[in-house]
Amino acid sequence: MSGLEDLYQQVIVDHSRRPRNFRPLQGSRQAEGYNPLCGDRVTIYVNLEGDKVKEVAFQGSGCAISTASASLLTEALKGKTLAEAGQMFERFHELVTHGGAAPASLGKLAAFAGVSEYPTRVKCATLPWHTLRAALKNAPEVVSTE
Ligand code: ZN
Repeated sequence: MSGLEDLYQQVIVDHSRRPRNFRPLQGSRQAEGYNPLCGDRVTIYVNLEGDKVKEVAFQGSGCAISTASASLLTEALKGKTLAEAGQMFERFHELVTHGGAAPASLGKLAAFAGVSEYPTRVKCATLPWHTLRAALKNAPEVVSTE
């Protein structure tokens, strides 16, 4: 394992064991996501201020990849505009489905580059992002990756 892969692994393990922003948010937009392939469940909460993400948090239970992805999402999106959040979603999706070098703008989210080699885990990594998109639209239905 290369040094970089090792570092990425550590980021995912750390965030899956000690997820950040793991709590509900009062008065927030929210959506629930479910990945039946793996059994991952996540609820994303987001509070906007104008077109900026003021606060974002999550709850749920799932595998290490989905939990770490949700945790890193909450850290990455705080303070971002909706347009920036949309761009980040596109870049993250491209990274986990096609691999390759992560753009610098993804920061720690680059840790998921290796997921592209495991197609069954891609949905674990993208579930929180699809759920975020539903939360921003305030969509009441459960988001399923199927
Ligand atoms: Zn999973």
